[in-house]
Amino acid sequence: MTAQQIIDECKKFSPKTTRIISSITSDDGYPPFPPDPPYPPLSREKLNPPTPSIYVESKKEAFSPELQQFCLSNHIAVIRGLSSVLKLDLGLFSTKTLVESNSDHYIEVRRQFMQPSDENWDPEHRDMVWYCESQRSHTTIARYGHYQALSFSESLKEDKEKNSTTIFRDSDSDSNSTFSKNTKKHKKYSMFKPVKFGTNVDLSDPKKWKIQLQELAKLPPFARVSSAANMLTHVGHTILGMNSVQLYMKVPGCRTPGHQENNNFCSVNINIGPGDCEWFGVAPEYWGVIHHICERNNINYLHGSWWPLLDDLYAENVPVYRFVQKPGDIVWVGAGTVHWVQAIGWCNNIAWNVGPFTSLQYDLAIKRYEWNKHENYKSIVPMINLSWNIARNVKISDKSVFTMMKLTLMRSLKYTIMLTNFIDDIGNEIILRQRDIQEPAHYCVVCDIEVFNILFVKEVDRKHVVHCFYCAQKMNNEFNDFVILKEYKLEELTKVYDNFQLITTASASTNLNNSNNNNQTSTPTTSISNNNSTTTVGGGGITSS
Ligand SMILES: [Zn+2]
Repeated sequence: MTAQQIIDECKKFSPKTTRIISSITSDDGYPPFPPDPPYPPLSREKLNPPTPSIYVESKKEAFSPELQQFCLSNHIAVIRGLSSVLKLDLGLFSTKTLVESNSDHYIEVRRQFMQPSDENWDPEHRDMVWYCESQRSHTTIARYGHYQALSFSESLKEDKEKNSTTIFRDSDSDSNSTFSKNTKKHKKYSMFKPVKFGTNVDLSDPKKWKIQLQELAKLPPFARVSSAANMLTHVGHTILGMNSVQLYMKVPGCRTPGHQENNNFCSVNINIGPGDCEWFGVAPEYWGVIHHICERNNINYLHGSWWPLLDDLYAENVPVYRFVQKPGDIVWVGAGTVHWVQAIGWCNNIAWNVGPFTSLQYDLAIKRYEWNKHENYKSIVPMINLSWNIARNVKISDKSVFTMMKLTLMRSLKYTIMLTNFIDDIGNEIILRQRDIQEPAHYCVVCDIEVFNILFVKEVDRKHVVHCFYCAQKMNNEFNDFVILKEYKLEELTKVYDNFQLITTASASTNLNNSNNNNQTSTPTTSISNNNSTTTVGGGGITSS
């Protein structure tokens, strides 16, 4: 369907009597509901699948398309050896270096209680439950670093007092750190001891964290914070913790409760050490089951905080990956994988999100975008803005990714036209106010949904705030008190829409040959053009020409 055909189609509907639907996943406006569990259910012995892991032995392997394919084809994976092969200086993220470089930096703190990783007790320690709220406060990196060090030396002291001659005898023999060596003994007697988790430390500022961020550019492109082959790089602005790095500082027992990443994007997590972390993961097709168990426990899946009890999952035939992430290990979390993590030893972790151009990633991202709307949960990835940016800047050769994106653009365009017709029809004016470069996407101040192109702006407390069409209409049928703005001329959008075309394999491979890329594989090729430079992505290789 061409843009002109969409415009003509919209003319057939009376703006006053037609419901204007903003959904990008359906024509009737219904969200995609949580999926039923896969059928037939898995047998009991298949509920503990081995975690896919790969050992990288050379730089060549690190940059091979096979490593990227390995990650993309698994729901969760551990990459071992990559940090040392790439000579990543993880010491740059150690507590010592962090305190030396930015001691006053803000850090969020969660107060939790030490307990075994497969248990979760209610605050009175009577029952095992899913609910796991933690008290929130904040401090500085220096103060948390002090707490972390003190916690370690106290534990050493306690160990010595308990067992002065054989401190490490029954500890993990292949662990390479004293921090983690103490953990097993620690567990035995520290039940319900309060622990503080230093979380969501923002490392996005390139001035403050220059050497740290430069170090991460050594990673292969598919795992980098920023790369042309990463959808999140095309958002055009920083989304904290997603297309920027976040740091976590931990002592044994610190927990990241169960969740899927924002809008189901993939994530990359590196354990800086010195201690280990224990991970649990569940494939995305089972998120509906976990959602139902949360509901049964009176917890909201998205807004609430929960720690899955393994027996409840096994009772519903949900397979669970469970593994240890050692210092230097990189965990790849695939699109939509539910996961939860507990620190075994004293350690720091760094993490960010990536969005590979795969149909699974795009499909899960837009489905979660619509489910978030239904649940009044903010989608911090503005999928409509992002889809238009990708249409402008990226040439897609994967047919299913292209088809899904084109459909999103079509629905978004249809919505813009229908809404414009409606506003014209009631005699209101729409003022053109074009976007600044890198201007963040707008969100409705009332309901937190992304507002694309047509903004209903109102002055509240001397500030101009954006509303979505639905909230503005609820407040005032005629939009009195609102200034209605549009960020794009219709011609701009129709041009982008019509120019967004599937790149055939033939032209894509020509593109590859022209850019001297020898990494040709059978994987789909995404030719990406940004401003004046063209980047071609095929399998694991990226070449700029
Ligand atoms: Zn709204």
